[in-house]
Amino acid sequence: MEKIKIGISSCLLGEKVRYDGSHKWDRYITDTMGQYFEWVPVCPEVEYGLPVPREAMHLVGDPEAPRLVTVRTGIDQTEGMLKWVKGRLKMLEQSDLHGFIFRSRSPSSGIGGVTVYTPSGMPGKKGAGLFGGAFIRSFPLVPAIDDGRLHDPKLRENFIERVFVYRRWKEFLMRGAAAKDLITFHTEHKLLVLSHSPKHLGILGRLVTGVKQYPPVEILSRYITQLTDALWLLATTKKNTNVLLHIIGYFKQHLSAADKKELLEVIDAYHKGYVPLIVPVALINHYVRRFDEPYLKKQHYLNPHPIELMLRNHV
Ligand code: SF4
Repeated sequence: MEKIKIGISSCLLGEKVRYDGSHKWDRYITDTMGQYFEWVPVCPEVEYGLPVPREAMHLVGDPEAPRLVTVRTGIDQTEGMLKWVKGRLKMLEQSDLHGFIFRSRSPSSGIGGVTVYTPSGMPGKKGAGLFGGAFIRSFPLVPAIDDGRLHDPKLRENFIERVFVYRRWKEFLMRGAAAKDLITFHTEHKLLVLSHSPKHLGILGRLVTGVKQYPPVEILSRYITQLTDALWLLATTKKNTNVLLHIIGYFKQHLSAADKKELLEVIDAYHKGYVPLIVPVALINHYVRRFDEPYLKKQHYLNPHPIELMLRNHV
């Protein structure tokens, strides 16, 4: 299968581009995720033209529009870096990225939580690095995470899921994004969305049923914006349990009392934290195959892409 293109801060791949000549190699990224993802490395500071090693920099001033300044000598690199950022973002538009993994806490690459210092040198509020911040503002639909959050299993799973949903969305657009295909796309993602946000499932459902009320471009834009917002909300144990209980309704006619009892017990064990989500999902998939349930067998919630599943298994 063609690898999925993901942008990444170069130092996370082991490139010695940091201010002190070191790297921040992340083995999970290169060895596990690297089997499925093709990396598009970006080091803002080196690509902008700064040497290795170089003087460390930090953010200063207004957290909403911070300045990038060298720590010891106070050289302000903001204007030059912003100019470079503009050009690099234009290039990345053509790169077909399905996600981006940023180095955390970097004044250039960070996407949030970067300390912004006051002019007197005191640590102040948090902000985003010049490149990282500009990237997420320019490409709000492209899944983004930093390496700090990537090591939180729930946030990592959420990121991987968003990458795959975004990929399916781009494939849908490539196929021409006809109204009937939007209905199919939506139908196949219903349980996935429900596991993140029942509220957004309602909003998306109303958009799809009212597809003729808006021009096609507007409906697509509204749909993907709402879908992205929904997926930002984490799928919790409680929400997953609700989805699993909802699924039982599709087997009402088929399951014997004993089978239903067993399934409810497995869902309860998941709810209580005794078994992982994959256990009730595997049992449900067994019934989906046995009864050839047409709606459930197309649900991405129950059938994540094999690669998606492999990556989740490391969570
Ligand atoms: S954090 Fe960003 S700017 Fe700093 S070394 Fe890594 S890629 Fe380069």
